[in-house]
Amino acid sequence: MVGVFLWKFIPFRSKILAMKTIIIGAGPAGLMAGIRSASSSNEVLILEKNEKAGKKLFITGKGRCNVTNACSNNDFIKHVVTNSKFLYSAINNFSSKDTIDFFNEHKTPLVIERGNRVFPKSYKSYDITDTLVSEYLKKGGKFKFNVEVTSLTKKDKLFVVKTKYETFLADNVVIATGGISYPKTGSTGDGYKFAESFEHKIIKPVPALTGIKIKEKIPEKLHGFTLKNVTLNIKGDKFKNSLFGELAFYDNYLDGPIVITTSSLINKKDINKLSLEIDLKPAMDEKMILDRISREIESSPKGKAVELLRSFLPMPMVEFFKQVSKLDLNIDKVKFNKEERIKFVTYLKHFSLTMDSLMGFDKAIVTSGGVSVSDINPKTMESKITPNLFFAGEVIDVDAFTGGFNIQIALSTGALAGDAIARRDEETQGA
Ligand code: FAD
Repeated sequence: MVGVFLWKFIPFRSKILAMKTIIIGAGPAGLMAGIRSASSSNEVLILEKNEKAGKKLFITGKGRCNVTNACSNNDFIKHVVTNSKFLYSAINNFSSKDTIDFFNEHKTPLVIERGNRVFPKSYKSYDITDTLVSEYLKKGGKFKFNVEVTSLTKKDKLFVVKTKYETFLADNVVIATGGISYPKTGSTGDGYKFAESFEHKIIKPVPALTGIKIKEKIPEKLHGFTLKNVTLNIKGDKFKNSLFGELAFYDNYLDGPIVITTSSLINKKDINKLSLEIDLKPAMDEKMILDRISREIESSPKGKAVELLRSFLPMPMVEFFKQVSKLDLNIDKVKFNKEERIKFVTYLKHFSLTMDSLMGFDKAIVTSGGVSVSDINPKTMESKITPNLFFAGEVIDVDAFTGGFNIQIALSTGALAGDAIARRDEETQGA
């Protein structure tokens, strides 16, 4: 039970409120931790700096919220980029199937799309947040919005949670403050500060699932244009990766599914040691392309070599190809000799661009890095350093590819922390 002996540590005239459990952050991790811990007789309060819950959830999946991935637990783990093994217990305890059942049971029907991606049938992300919020309230949980936690300390057995105007005492605290990507949604890395003050190690946060800035000037016509069916090849520094799919161009960066997935694989590497190439015609090998060029020149010998390019690439890409390859394609087709044809094919297969950096946290879908898993018990999400301090969600050094995996990690780690608190509460009552 929360004691009163701490009054002397609290500044005069501060308002002091005592709770059994305080959760910092009302994202999916905090909400699920709240639902599961409020399932016991626990008094639970979520403190959220925004005016409402789930501000980041609202923009997920382009407003549609890809809430989980309908795959097996083993497959799930394969889509986790950082510290997948740490998540075994969390995923087994509350899996993507449990998420699907949870929303179905709470009358929020879901649909499964390509790649097992799961969305609310309404395609409205706020249905996901509303369901989590109403379930939490139904369980007796409480919220306080527009309150930013500014410090977290522990005196004897109680946590002292301070906001600008109030001080809260709690037996348990869950840090569910998210990472530092899209900081406008409220995730500004506060959890790292709190964790550090309890001697937790922070793995340097880096942007993940984000665009790649390139040094070449991308022609305006190409901004917003997506190339379909290309392969992005990255290699160097004992690393090699190829991904096939869609790649988009913007003013100074590359984006699209294969780019953002790649970003999560290279965000801890020295980008200057890596090379980036796009295979613009992955379905054809060099010989097939050379044969096609010969056939096209034979069947229509008049005109300029650049016309050949148009038969291989979409129009908006032609100017950029000319700029990067520096090939003179304004010569007559018939003068397009073997050596030039080989160069042309080489650029089609190895369209090489220079990486400058990854896009920053304001464009990164998730943060990689955060509170080191080495000091968190994977079976409970409790700190190994400070009893009754728990972590959930993106604040932890875990991140996954796109496809609904990151929200599921938040829900699974939140559920595990909430369950551990509820169990402890029951044990205390039974004692
Ligand atoms: P958050 O959702 O970041 O919530 C943390 C909360 O803590 C915030 O509300 C914040 O205001 C609050 N907070 C922080 N500090 C304090 C403080 N000091 N005091 C009080 N409150 C505080 N993942 C998917 O799986 N599927 C998707 O479709 C998807 N789409 C995405 C699209 C975009 C554009 C972005 C940016 C992310 C997307 N993600 C997606 C990732 C996913 O949103 C996050 O991984 C997930 O929200 C993390 O949940 P969380 O609860 O750990 O943290």
